[in-house]
Formats: sequence, C-alpha cells, structure tokens
Amino acid sequence: MPESSRNTPKSVDPGRLRLDGDQASTGALLGMRCLDCGISVFGQAVFCQACSSARLEPVDLSRTGTLYSYTIVRVPPEGWPGPVPYVLGEVELPEGPHILAEVIDVAHDALRIGMEVRLALEEVQSGDSGPVFSVYKWAPATESTLGTGEV
Ligand SMILES: [Zn+2]
Repeated sequence: MPESSRNTPKSVDPGRLRLDGDQASTGALLGMRCLDCGISVFGQAVFCQACSSARLEPVDLSRTGTLYSYTIVRVPPEGWPGPVPYVLGEVELPEGPHILAEVIDVAHDALRIGMEVRLALEEVQSGDSGPVFSVYKWAPATESTLGTGEV
C-alpha cells in the first residue's frame, strides 16, 4: 500500500462537487451553462430551465459569491453531524445560481446580507469508521485563516 493509505474523501454529491488533487483537498462546484440563452444552473441538467434548449455544456462555477439570505438553524435535521446552532446560507454566484450550504467560520452577529463568501471544503465522516465525505460550505472571503482542507 502507498504510504498515504488514509481514506481520500469522496464528494458528498459528485454531480455537484468535483474534488481535485491527490488528497481531494480542493474542488469545484459543477454547473451547466446554456449555449442558447447563456444562463447557468447548479448541478446537472438535461435541458435549460429558461429556454428549454438541450444544448448545455458543463462548467465550473465560481468559488466566490455573495450571501443572499441566511437562517440560523437551532433544530437540525436528524443525523446532522455538526455543531448546533449552525448557519444555513443561500449564496448567489456571479453566474446566477443560488446555492444553499452551511456558512462556517463566522460569528452570527457578523453575518451580513451581501457579504462576500468563498467555497470551503470540510471533511465529514459518516459514523465512527464509515467513509469520509467532502462537503461544500461557505466561509467569509475576507477571513485569512480559512481552514479548508485540514483534517
Ligand atoms: Zn437556455
């Protein structure tokens, strides 16, 4: 076995998050762009939601966006692996799609609509010895101590 036999994390949703690098420590959000009207959507699509064209091409979406809306969640869904309460943010990308994900590394009273955020990947293990998944989240873009990719 190679020395780095540690479980490399898997994308929590391969249709929406592609992982890059040997340790899958970086990645990109995936979308589709319509060749006819130019809109982009998050995730996979067979036809354009705006003009019904089937001429779509896969694209990497922006790694930064602005906070469009957020909710502080105090009663999480069953099986939620992280701390509570947490922040669920709706982020608008420059291409147009809105993406829901947890907002990390920010104090609740520092949240502002319109603040710039950036993609952050966090590893989450399912159970005590289950597979490790990489999950996409948002973190403040101005934070210099962004802990992406660390274990
Ligand atoms: Zn279209």
